[in-house]
Amino acid sequence: MHRLSQLDRQFVWHPFTQMRDWLRQEPIVIVEGRGAVLRDLKGREYLDANSSIWTNLHGHNHPKINAALRRQLKKIAHSSALGLGNEPASLLAGKLVDLANSIYDSRFPIDAPTGRTARKSKIANHKLSKVFFSDDGSTAIEVALKMAYEFARRAGRSSKPRFLSLAGGYHGDTIGAVALGHIDLFHKNYSGLLFKTDEVMSPYCYRCPFNRARPDRADARTCRKCRWECVDQVERKFAAQRKRGDGYSGFVFEPLIQGAAGMIPQPPGWLRQVTGLARSHGALLIADEVLTGFGRTGVPNSECRVPGSGSRVPQPGLETRNTIPAFACQQEGVHPDLLCLAKGLTGGYLPMAATLTTQQIFDAFLGDYEEFKTFFHGHSYTANQLGAAAALANLELLRSADCLRTRRGLQAILHRELQSLWRLSPVGDVRQVGLIVGVELVRNWRARQPFDLRERAGIRVCGAMARRGVLTRPIGDVIVLMPPYCTTQRQAETMVAALREAIREVLS
Ligand SMILES: *Cc1c(COP(=O)(O)O)cnc(C)c1O
Repeated sequence: MHRLSQLDRQFVWHPFTQMRDWLRQEPIVIVEGRGAVLRDLKGREYLDANSSIWTNLHGHNHPKINAALRRQLKKIAHSSALGLGNEPASLLAGKLVDLANSIYDSRFPIDAPTGRTARKSKIANHKLSKVFFSDDGSTAIEVALKMAYEFARRAGRSSKPRFLSLAGGYHGDTIGAVALGHIDLFHKNYSGLLFKTDEVMSPYCYRCPFNRARPDRADARTCRKCRWECVDQVERKFAAQRKRGDGYSGFVFEPLIQGAAGMIPQPPGWLRQVTGLARSHGALLIADEVLTGFGRTGVPNSECRVPGSGSRVPQPGLETRNTIPAFACQQEGVHPDLLCLAKGLTGGYLPMAATLTTQQIFDAFLGDYEEFKTFFHGHSYTANQLGAAAALANLELLRSADCLRTRRGLQAILHRELQSLWRLSPVGDVRQVGLIVGVELVRNWRARQPFDLRERAGIRVCGAMARRGVLTRPIGDVIVLMPPYCTTQRQAETMVAALREAIREVLS
């Protein structure tokens, strides 16, 4: 065994990993990467089919991000944000605010019954205008949570602020973020450490008790038969809490798709409805776009096509549009009060996060020094210059015409290739939101019957994919494909083919 593999086995404790299983085999040790390809110390090449746990956007070793980092390194790597400003962080904050508010002139406006003007002025109150930097998705959530908590108390909205979040929600592993999450497997053991939050049903069309549609060989969202009972549940929850007292201070959600829950997408319109309810009950909207941010959720599938194929259904005005919403909320015309960003912020290069918020929340922390209204929170590496420089380069790449074109193309290619999976009987649901794919494996698709845990179906399928040179990690029995934006057509086809063959090999 290679010396590095030995050192890893001897000393490294890996995240979310049963180390007994880990120690049974020789680990894959990555030494290089370029574009969508990772290379290990034996020279074997793999496609990075989950963008290094959902972080990478433009590929590894990107010349533009590398150059931005080199330029910044020549100046300085890090100085503290406690008491000092810095160049790239200031530039980045301005750019993030612009991007978050691009919804104002975006092509996804919503016409409320009250009319455009009334709506616009209402929205103005929720305009995101301040950026608080931190290090990871979890810390971005902690920051939002503390801000919302203190804001609710200071604004006299509640003396004991309470939060509502979604069943299956995942917001990170620090204790505050764990308290907001509702995945028993990750959270139950630590319940003694957590504060109380409430949970409400979230859509999971494939396994929804209210969905009267029979299993079909199509994305469960598209053939669901229901009366939006899941929205009623949210409404009831808000009403009940209001009856008990102050009402919820904040509503925390992953927009469009819940990631760690198993890549579970929301049917179009759900987010707009429930956030409307939350608003009408006076709750702050706390959007966790750690996974979905920076264009991951793409555009509706009807709006993209495989490059070179003339088969697109013509839609008026589509030709002239060449934008992709930067954030999932924007696809539903939702304006959060707190927007949490991390994973893709630096293009997958460095740990950095941001929590965006409104002037109104910011103002609640203003006061005389001795009033101690200060937001007492910060991290050693807050607003790190290298991270900010990488993030600026990332944002520049995101808006380039080239990148917009390839992302649309990649989304269409994935959509086309994924159709082949419906032929496999262990495939229960295939769901795609932009450049995020979840394939749910089942013992029997007609009964939507899951595999027994001990069969480790997801793990085994991913193992078989790795042997075919494609790396990803399952969430239970859901296989995730989330390729970097630079993935070529050939590479995308290879990823889906590896999944198809792995399912055949392991489960048929
Ligand atoms: C990954 C993730 C987090 C946590 O981010 P870390 O950087 O791992 O702390 C929070 N929310 C969502 C939706 C995520 O996918």
